[in-house]
Amino acid sequence: MFDIIKKSYEMAGSYKKFLRIGALFIFIQHISVLMQFVAMYLGFLWLGELDKNRVVILFLIVTASLLLNCAGGYGQYRSISGSFLGIFRKYREDVGEKLKNAPMGYFTQTALSHILDALTLVVKTVEQMLGIAYMFIFTGIAVCIFLLLGLFGMHVIIGLFALGIVALAWICLFFMYFLSRKEVHLLHDRSIAYSEALVDGIRGIPVLRSFPKMDPEVKEEIHERVNKTSQEIVDNQVKLEFKVIIFFRLYGTLLYLGSLGVTLLTYYLYLQGQVELPKALTLCAAGFMLFGGMKQLENVTILGAKTPHEMDYLNTIADIPQIKDGPIQDQEGDIDLEFSHLSFSYDGDREILKGLNFKIPAKKKVAIIGPSGAGKTTVIHLIARFYDPTKGAIRLGGHDLREYEVKTLLSYYSLVFQEVYLFHDTIINNIRMAKPDATDEEVIMAAKRARCHEFIMEFPDQYQTNVGEEGSRLSGGERQRISIARALLKDAPIILLDEATSSVDPENEGEILKAIDELTRDKTVISIAHRLSTVRDADDILVLDHGKLVQQGNHEKLIKEEGLYKNFIKAREEAQNWDLRI
Ligand code: ATP
Repeated sequence: MFDIIKKSYEMAGSYKKFLRIGALFIFIQHISVLMQFVAMYLGFLWLGELDKNRVVILFLIVTASLLLNCAGGYGQYRSISGSFLGIFRKYREDVGEKLKNAPMGYFTQTALSHILDALTLVVKTVEQMLGIAYMFIFTGIAVCIFLLLGLFGMHVIIGLFALGIVALAWICLFFMYFLSRKEVHLLHDRSIAYSEALVDGIRGIPVLRSFPKMDPEVKEEIHERVNKTSQEIVDNQVKLEFKVIIFFRLYGTLLYLGSLGVTLLTYYLYLQGQVELPKALTLCAAGFMLFGGMKQLENVTILGAKTPHEMDYLNTIADIPQIKDGPIQDQEGDIDLEFSHLSFSYDGDREILKGLNFKIPAKKKVAIIGPSGAGKTTVIHLIARFYDPTKGAIRLGGHDLREYEVKTLLSYYSLVFQEVYLFHDTIINNIRMAKPDATDEEVIMAAKRARCHEFIMEFPDQYQTNVGEEGSRLSGGERQRISIARALLKDAPIILLDEATSSVDPENEGEILKAIDELTRDKTVISIAHRLSTVRDADDILVLDHGKLVQQGNHEKLIKEEGLYKNFIKAREEAQNWDLRI
């Protein structure tokens, strides 16, 4: 149970001292309980003989206790709740910062769903639970210390009796905590499995609908996965309740016995003449205060059992690999690119690119071709430093990419991929993100050059039109052109281009090509080429096969050689009659 406190401190960073102050405030607040105890005793003691002075004394004690209670309560709330809000705000910011510098390989579907789960659901639960658990645990300790002190001060036998019950009750709490810990760990893991199955099931609905004749067993299997994970959660909860119920009831019974025992013992001692009436009344009241005050610990013990596990989970999520920045922050003049003995593997086992050596001079147009899976996209991703090479290096202007500050490196590139991501924002903001200080005129000029202006002006809100989630209010071709407008506005010297293979209508395609022509003028262009014209016009063509560079040269040179390139051109020319994209 105390690992909640320990882990809170580990996560707290600069908020550690506020957590300590919060705990101090809880103790200060509970000194007031001791004062109430004294006031109660004096009140009973002076009951028949109250005079002005005694009333003033009682009044002063009660007022001081009230002030202490208010100040302690306010102080603990401010420092503890404020700290946890701050700790988790910083956590979210840190994860956000780390994500900016994470290698692209990190962004798998699983990693994203875990990050979303952590940043939305788990952080919120832990933030609330920690605040409550932290306050309740320290309050429980303070109640026990001060009231036991009071009871001992009044009568040792009653103090000893209460101490025994309190000790048994705490043992019970620890049992509850440890027994529930294993189950709530499983509960957390199963909740994650359930949300993964659910997201998969919901995302797959369009696929299932589009294959009405799909084997019912396969469909059943998908539904079954959701049902199974949901049932596992229920089973887990039932198991948890069965495991802790005995200690839960035992704890409640001990507290009840504690209050009753103190009352009966006091009554007995009073009858024996060992305590006088004012003390007896105070002891009974203090007994109820002590065991009543401990009641709130039972729920926090069970609910809080999963918190350390969730905190470990949050720490694991925050442990995001980082691309290391290099020292170079600027590079003047024309910059060429060079692959030097480069090999690369995604998983450390299968080599995807093998010993690549080639040079791309500044302002040249290079087309990469090759069969599916040859490694074309991987080459582009390595240039953009989405991943680092396993062996060898890529040099930009003579320097290894790893020697550049990541921000500087990315400023040299404009990436135009087939998959276009637009933010749920206005068209103008989506274009402007390439150059945040661009004026409206600059944005409009880029949109005009990217052949977007006309369709944008047809929207009622024109440049202020919201593109919808992931740009859903625009057609595929329109999204492509917006992404080209972005790239034009960025005006980077190197364009990394993945030519569209997906069919857009001829009119849209013509517009996209014009936009790309604008974008690539006077730039270094490295494109994964699918169009014959791009390949033929390229200054240099890299032919990849199974991760190796098997041919290199311009069209005139390569067409004379037997090999993949000739076959590629032949196949394209044969398709020319029906493929309009020439
Ligand atoms: P296509 O023309 O079909 O797009 P490509 O030539 O662009 O193919 P790449 O996408 O570079 O090929 O993929 C090369 C190889 O690397 C493929 O065998 C692919 O399975 C593998 N691969 C691609 N991305 C990953 C990844 N993130 N993790 C592991 N392997 C990957």
